[in-house]
Amino acid sequence: MTAPGIDTQVLVVGAGPVGLMLAGELRLGGAGVTVLEQLAAPTTESRASTLHARTMEILEQRGLAEELGDPPNGGPGHFGGIALDLTLPGPYPGQWKVPQARTEELLAGWATGLGAELRRGHRVVGITDRGDHVEVEVEVAAATPPSAGGGGPTSRRLRAQYVVGCDGEESIVRRLAGFPFPGEDATKELLRADIAGIDVPNRRFERHPRGLAIASRGPTGITRVMAHGYGTPARPRTEAPSFEEVTRLWADITGEDISGGTPVWLNAFGNARRQVSRYRMGRVLLAGDAAHRQMPVGGQALNLGLQDAVNLGWKLAAHLRGTGLLDSYHAERHPVGRRVLGNIAAQALLLLGGQDVEELRSVFRGLIGLPEARAHLAGMISGLDVRYDMAGGGEGEHPLLGARLPAYRLHTAAGPAGTLGLLRSGRGVLLDLGKDPALAAAARRWADGRVTHVRAEAEPGCRGPEFGAALVRPDGHLAWIDGTPADLDAALRRWFGAPNPGTGTPAPRHRA
Ligand SMILES: Cc1cc2nc3c(=O)[nH]c(=O)nc-3n(C[C@H](O)[C@H](O)[C@H](O)COP(=O)(O)OP(=O)(O)OC[C@H]3O[C@@H](n4cnc5c(N)ncnc54)[C@H](O)[C@@H]3O)c2cc1C
Repeated sequence: MTAPGIDTQVLVVGAGPVGLMLAGELRLGGAGVTVLEQLAAPTTESRASTLHARTMEILEQRGLAEELGDPPNGGPGHFGGIALDLTLPGPYPGQWKVPQARTEELLAGWATGLGAELRRGHRVVGITDRGDHVEVEVEVAAATPPSAGGGGPTSRRLRAQYVVGCDGEESIVRRLAGFPFPGEDATKELLRADIAGIDVPNRRFERHPRGLAIASRGPTGITRVMAHGYGTPARPRTEAPSFEEVTRLWADITGEDISGGTPVWLNAFGNARRQVSRYRMGRVLLAGDAAHRQMPVGGQALNLGLQDAVNLGWKLAAHLRGTGLLDSYHAERHPVGRRVLGNIAAQALLLLGGQDVEELRSVFRGLIGLPEARAHLAGMISGLDVRYDMAGGGEGEHPLLGARLPAYRLHTAAGPAGTLGLLRSGRGVLLDLGKDPALAAAARRWADGRVTHVRAEAEPGCRGPEFGAALVRPDGHLAWIDGTPADLDAALRRWFGAPNPGTGTPAPRHRA
């Protein structure tokens, strides 16, 4: 329920993939949400194209993976341009090719289908945290643009209980709300172009004496080229590079002339690295590129942001209902972001260094060949190894506590089920393979739409869970495993709030 004088419970700024994912998650948690997007229509700009294994699992959790059909496997990954097999046990081994525009279309349909309001042509220009609500100033584009005889933008003021900036790396929310954003500017850069009408060999991180060259011809005949001249510093840019700059660099590195092609898209990106020191300031939060800027290498930027959204959505919705775990968003996601930015910085050194990093690359190549080292890096890049601190990491802690619920085939009262599918409604799940009557009694006190008690058995012939019972948060992370009833009660209270005295009692009211 929206408080008097409040237009919406949560205003999400930005309908990129992160804002759309967050909007859907908030709706699943029962929060009212409006998404403000400055663009009148979705962008068709060529951006990220890789979804990693953990993101695919998250999409399956919400019933969205199947809508992607059968996306092509992206083949082996890399670490700093050194081939790295990303496959790990799970339903989505490796990396998957899905154009960002398709991911956004899918998430927009899902979020609005769940009741999120998406307002395009709405540019946020002011934000004031009033303590008990946030006031947002918006410029609304006229339905008919001035070029077609319409008027200019009009101003509007909206009030929300919380605002989340998902407005990308130049985030105005971050700037207006005054989030410190420490880090480093780019020192090196890659030029990138999508070009029609050229015929150059495909190259994967080809190292030449003067620079790095990458080329890949897509199914439509357009070739994406990327190039970096060793020792060339990043240039301060306010615009995309010219086609001539790209062709000159390409010729310098490879000796090939691609100037006869037609550029479809030109872009430069560097190794800038920044992360806000707090993901929340009062009633304003940040997620995705707004919270962290990184070089888009190995397809981690988009995946990291989507996982921010899935961590935040249910917590903010629960906070609005009166349970106070919102600050665990920063506590959990800031370290994950810092680690990803760290691995990207290491990759940038290996990738964009010249002759001086050849020996380091050679040592690294040897290490990646060791199964444990490979699995370690694959876990980090795929997002599968994220493990939140649930109980202080004490001795004897179950190795899966805080990790994501692995995919198992189970048999439930409703028939065969995959564990990921149990999370479709966005509720917590008490997964009970032991039929301990004490668990059912505990779960009943949260069975008001917050936690679903699922009794299950391992599917005959399939690998079953390595536990008798577990509490799964709506984001798929395991908050309690095989502990005492008192520990379960504490975990349920921590993540889902105070119990209701009996089944069917309404959940706590939304807080103002
Ligand atoms: C040119 C480019 C190329 C990229 N290439 C790759 C790649 O090859 N691989 C990779 O992994 N990643 C790549 N990325 C990064 C990847 O696209 C991002 O990590 C991802 O889009 C982050 O999603 P987001 O939702 O946080 O932000 P964004 O996708 O940037 O979405 C932010 C949204 O907020 C809107 N917005 C901004 N300001 C306002 C405002 N004041 N009011 C209202 N709305 C606003 C924007 O219009 C936009 O729709 C690229 C990014 C860019 C910009």
